[in-house]
Amino acid sequence: MDFTLSPEDESLLAATRRYARDVLRPAADRLEAVTSPEEFPWDLMEEGTALGLKALPLSPELGGRGADMVVQALVTAELAAGDVGAAYFFRHYWRFARLIPRLPEPVRDLVVKGITSDNRFVPASASTEELAGSDNALPYDAPGHGAMLEARREGDGWVLDGSKSMITNGGIASLYFVLGRTDAGVGIRSGATMFAVPASIPGVTVGPLYRKLGQRGSPQADVAFDRVRVPLDFAVSEVGSGYASTERGLIAANVTNAGLSLGVAEAAYEEALDWSIDRVQGGVPIHRHQLVAHDLGWMRYQLDAARSYLLQAAWRYSHAEPFNPEWSWGVRVFCADMAIEVTRRAMFLFGGRGMMGGYRIEKLVRDALTLTHGNGTSAILTARLGAHQADARIDSRAISREASEIAAGTAAGAGARAGAGTTHEVTAEVRRG
Ligand SMILES: Cc1cc2nc3c(=O)[nH]c(=O)nc-3n(C[C@H](O)[C@H](O)[C@H](O)COP(=O)(O)OP(=O)(O)OC[C@H]3O[C@@H](n4cnc5c(N)ncnc54)[C@H](O)[C@@H]3O)c2cc1C
Repeated sequence: MDFTLSPEDESLLAATRRYARDVLRPAADRLEAVTSPEEFPWDLMEEGTALGLKALPLSPELGGRGADMVVQALVTAELAAGDVGAAYFFRHYWRFARLIPRLPEPVRDLVVKGITSDNRFVPASASTEELAGSDNALPYDAPGHGAMLEARREGDGWVLDGSKSMITNGGIASLYFVLGRTDAGVGIRSGATMFAVPASIPGVTVGPLYRKLGQRGSPQADVAFDRVRVPLDFAVSEVGSGYASTERGLIAANVTNAGLSLGVAEAAYEEALDWSIDRVQGGVPIHRHQLVAHDLGWMRYQLDAARSYLLQAAWRYSHAEPFNPEWSWGVRVFCADMAIEVTRRAMFLFGGRGMMGGYRIEKLVRDALTLTHGNGTSAILTARLGAHQADARIDSRAISREASEIAAGTAAGAGARAGAGTTHEVTAEVRRG
């Protein structure tokens, strides 16, 4: 595993760091103040767009950099150290850029042109509904559960009816990827399909932006679809395979979500380190108190461990075949938990001021707390990891049993694996997601 970056990637990271430090970070108040789509600070995103950040994983032939997941994760962390909401804005494009090889032509054209040449093109991914949150991430695979927005064939198109909740970029998005139920008689794994829906189509309406604990520069809103009609080739997954398509996207997004957490936590640590040198109590700068030095050391090695985990998960995503999604679930949860604990300890080193508005550490604590729900809650992703481990063990036991039975010349072996390992099937396809 080699994490050495090319000179071009090194200079992209340095430019991203400067942009995050000099443009995004000083604009924290503006980003925090976004309460309606009209207030979204487009101008702050211009420099990042000019750096090519929206098109990072897009292939060079299509106008991108073809960056692997290691570069994507590191760029995300740099951006998030400036402002996590702005980081979320840029890395949200990557999920759609990765989908390009799978998209039907008209949607592919919309996405490629949008990412490369339209500053106001914003994609959004809409799965969550009022009654379907975790049921989309750890499916209870039965009729009536998971996303139920109705999608039905009518003549030469699809008609969508229903609504989605807490959709990132709701209100500023120009293109929604919407998970609809095409067969209500079966579970979500085979009964859902993903559709591309331009925001300008009649029947798409957006509710007010949510007021949120942290990550306030990244807007969320509920989005309603009232008899919204799209052409047949705006179904962007195979009919009935929308869940698998969502899953692939989320497995990739988990890795960059871990980068968001790392960036927020690094920023908190930097704040705490400087503060501990400048703040004098007990006659000395507080870092000279052993308990404070202990906290600084603890934070540093947590950050270093998280960075190593992230680099390894990212490298495996881009270069190991097959990719085991456990890396994506685990690193997303580990880094989110680490960010919460590091920002909390950093805040405590500020004493009472850590809780006061105007001190950056207070914002970073709030930002960290919002990183536990992206792409499924931390609890759900951890449970998936555990279940995947158990399935793999059951599978490998069945394989050993089958091998011994074949060696012993008994016939039962061939059936021994039936039903084992039901959650493995995402692995082989995942990299191309
Ligand atoms: C900042 C932010 C951005 C978001 N952006 C988007 C977006 O762009 N698109 C989108 O579609 N959604 C988005 N969401 C929604 C997000 O995906 C959901 O919040 C998440 O999937 C959890 O669903 P829920 O909120 O309905 O919680 P619920 O599913 O109601 O969960 C409530 C609690 O029950 C637990 N729980 C639920 N089911 C189980 C189970 N089977 N076993 C054990 N515990 C369980 C959960 O861990 C949680 O603690 C976003 C959310 C946030 C906070």
